[in-house]
Amino acid sequence: LNRRLAQFGTTIFAEMSALAARTGSINLGQGFPDTDGPEEVREAAVRALRDGRGNQYPPGPGVPELRTAVADHQRRFHGLDVDPDTEVLVTAGATEAVAAALLALVEPGDEVIALEPYYDSYAACIAMAGGVRVPVTLRPRDGSYHLDLDELRDAVTPRTRLLLLNTPHNPTGTVLGRDQLAAVAALAVERDLLVVTDEVYEHLVFEGEHLPLASFPGMRERTVTISSAGKTFAFTGWKVGWATGSRELVAAVRTAKQYLTFVSAGPFQYAVAEALRLPDAYFDGLRADLRRKRDLLADGLRAAGFGVYLPQGTYFVTADIRPLGATDGFAFCRTLPERAGVVAIPNAVFYDHQEAGAPFVRFAFCKKDDVLTEAADRLARMAP
Ligand code: PMP
Ligand code: GLN
Repeated sequence: LNRRLAQFGTTIFAEMSALAARTGSINLGQGFPDTDGPEEVREAAVRALRDGRGNQYPPGPGVPELRTAVADHQRRFHGLDVDPDTEVLVTAGATEAVAAALLALVEPGDEVIALEPYYDSYAACIAMAGGVRVPVTLRPRDGSYHLDLDELRDAVTPRTRLLLLNTPHNPTGTVLGRDQLAAVAALAVERDLLVVTDEVYEHLVFEGEHLPLASFPGMRERTVTISSAGKTFAFTGWKVGWATGSRELVAAVRTAKQYLTFVSAGPFQYAVAEALRLPDAYFDGLRADLRRKRDLLADGLRAAGFGVYLPQGTYFVTADIRPLGATDGFAFCRTLPERAGVVAIPNAVFYDHQEAGAPFVRFAFCKKDDVLTEAADRLARMAP
């Protein structure tokens, strides 16, 4: 492994899912639903396969049906206008969109600011792009995590090229509000920063609303907006994502994407095009269902003695293990399978400032109700 990647090894998600399988534990670690997405969307994928749509290389930017559906979705939910021909790029999940954006936009030595805790691929992709990671730590206060705008402002230097923003935020569940986003936008304009926003949880919001940063003044021309079908439609295995933005930015990301995967997931692109046109009832139902699951797991965690940060969005709960007399999330997660038959993720893996994340662990609640209830029961009976 070269020096840029030496520190990255195996992702925590693979490690923890393997631990769950090995110990027969309930896997609330890696975030993936245990129920597949809508039947009609699966049928659309089967139809595309049978009809021979997408079985050979699709067009580089994505099939026109999906690019148009993404553009229509951005208008329908966010009032954003993007040209499906030049301002939409289909990618192999949001993961590839993030990677391609960083590879395309960051010069070696450029500083990239990311909110800490940050999704694990960010650090590796910044490193692959030769960038320098500058974390700005979200602070836990009054039951939720907050972005300190002064800390963000202080993190910007003459070498800062890009801000990598994730809202709704994994793992804390924070959803940045209008005032905060307006301040971030003003800072980006003032300091002439590019912004890449990871909005994969855009439809998983329980409190407040998700607002794309690209919709704020001055941001359209400096923001790459990223999302994917994985979370919104519960098909994390399909790996269909997309990036939208100005023609220039999308062309840059497309250049990098061409040489990473070239294209991907032909038949699934047609199915996701249909998914994006599902009626509001689908999106409302998804949100209502996950909110109930959030409350179910949060109640269970509280009853088991954890401190709980109730997420405004995403399908993750961050829990404080200090009320249980523990301080090291890594050690806690490593022994949790044998103590309780449950797997969680230590938040410290998402931090540069390890001490800031040490006593927190993340549980996913995108699981069947009886699975969440059983996990809560097991945690309540946890061995010392
Ligand atoms: N960004 C964040 C914040 C995520 O939580 C995830 C899903 N684990 C991804 C990106 C990856 O999305 P995809 O599966 O579409 O590549
Ligand atoms: N995004 C999911 C999570 O945060 C899974 C990611 C992965 O397995 N790479 O758990």
